[in-house]
Amino acid sequence: MSARTTQRAIGWLALYLLLVLAPVLLLADAARTPGRGFAWDFSMALGYVALAMFTLQWVLIARFKRATAPFGIDIVYYFHRYLAVVALALVVVHVALIAVVHPQALGSADPRSATAHMSAGRAAVALLVVVTLWALLRQRLGGDYDRWRIAHALLSALALAAAFWHLFGSGHYLDAPWKRALWVAYALAWVALLLYVRALHPWAIARAPWRVREVRPERGRVCTLVLEREDGHALAFEPGQFAWLTLRASPFAMREHPFSIASSAADGRRVELSIKALGDFSTGVRDVPPGERAWLDAPYGHFSVDRHPAAEGYVFVAGGIGIAPMMSMLRTLADRGDRRPLLLIYGNRAWERVAFREELEQLAKRLDLKVVHTLIEPPPGWTGERGLVTRELLARHLPPAAALARREFFVCGPTAMTLAVERALGTLGVPAERVHNELFDWV
Ligand SMILES: Cc1cc2nc3c(=O)[nH]c(=O)nc-3n(C[C@H](O)[C@H](O)[C@H](O)COP(=O)(O)OP(=O)(O)OC[C@H]3O[C@@H](n4cnc5c(N)ncnc54)[C@H](O)[C@@H]3O)c2cc1C
Repeated sequence: MSARTTQRAIGWLALYLLLVLAPVLLLADAARTPGRGFAWDFSMALGYVALAMFTLQWVLIARFKRATAPFGIDIVYYFHRYLAVVALALVVVHVALIAVVHPQALGSADPRSATAHMSAGRAAVALLVVVTLWALLRQRLGGDYDRWRIAHALLSALALAAAFWHLFGSGHYLDAPWKRALWVAYALAWVALLLYVRALHPWAIARAPWRVREVRPERGRVCTLVLEREDGHALAFEPGQFAWLTLRASPFAMREHPFSIASSAADGRRVELSIKALGDFSTGVRDVPPGERAWLDAPYGHFSVDRHPAAEGYVFVAGGIGIAPMMSMLRTLADRGDRRPLLLIYGNRAWERVAFREELEQLAKRLDLKVVHTLIEPPPGWTGERGLVTRELLARHLPPAAALARREFFVCGPTAMTLAVERALGTLGVPAERVHNELFDWV
């Protein structure tokens, strides 16, 4: 990370903390409800912080490019996930403290006799528990991703609306108009974010439709979608970045899938996405007729040679469809006439399934590129590398130790492989800040 990026990251984190703590700091002087004591005050402060955090969860998924750039959007999504757990824990402690110290303040649990704002508070807690646990357990529970996503958005919006109702209804520490105004500002900011995320942002994407020009089968159950913007404009992107693709649905329908852009950044008028058939959506891609409309929300990500200049070249380690962002970087470097030394270590199951293997041979002639294939099930007579990408395999092909520290490393493949390669590179003396990864399962 450059010093400038670090400064920006610190700036955004400081702003986040300020927004989360502002209600507590500003309202701290509030005339306390007489006789209720520290536990009560502390519980209210936790409730405030949790509500501010849940409001800001919507900022984290709004894909604001300036705010996500210093971290990478994947890290911001991880923040979104883990901060939800922290905020939920604060909510639980907020309720538990009141239940222990002032149980009568909770009132009746029966919605027929309870006050509306206390019922709203209970509903908010229940919804937040469901939303958070469901998100954490989604992959284990299985089920359709798109349906989960819609349910996630709806239930969290309901939870937040109920939480604001609870806050304004109970009115603790909101005795002065300016104090109410502060929370009204948070509530309005949240409504604005909701509109931006669910209406304005999809509207902007809908205004720039793309067309599928070609659907090209590749080896290894991979299909390349070739897309062109209807108005002929080019997409400016950095090689290795990714796009959210919407096909056969409106951009408002929340049915988008992330894919690395595989084509050269030298020509953004034709964008290619190489998609491996894994589930319903990715398998259906091969049946998309040319001429069909598509929408792209792009570009995102920081997995790019352009973000990590290296005078002495690059090392790419790809597994299976993890080759897609590498193809973009290699094609771009070739189009730019780059002469820096490049090494690609590319793992696959079988030789017949190695996507882009013929094109890689051509790229090796245009670039100073060495390609090392490793196969789990090599064909008879195979003399190349066998098995997974291990520390020993890396050691056999990496440049001498002195040059290692001056190269940048890009790793993309199945998550287990990516993490194992990163560990192996560390033990071979590659500084961690020189190793960059793109995980395909962070969403
Ligand atoms: C940054 C990034 C870049 C990627 N680049 C590529 C690429 O170049 N080529 C490629 O083949 N794959 C890529 N993927 C993976 C690809 O997005 C998923 O394989 C695809 O969305 C699976 O959808 P499915 O419905 O076919 O599979 P399913 O079997 O329905 O889903 C399998 C899993 O994929 C994930 N997933 C499903 N739908 C979505 C969605 N709408 N958004 C996010 N995740 C979803 C979920 O974790 C789900 O459990 C990338 C992923 C990320 C995060």
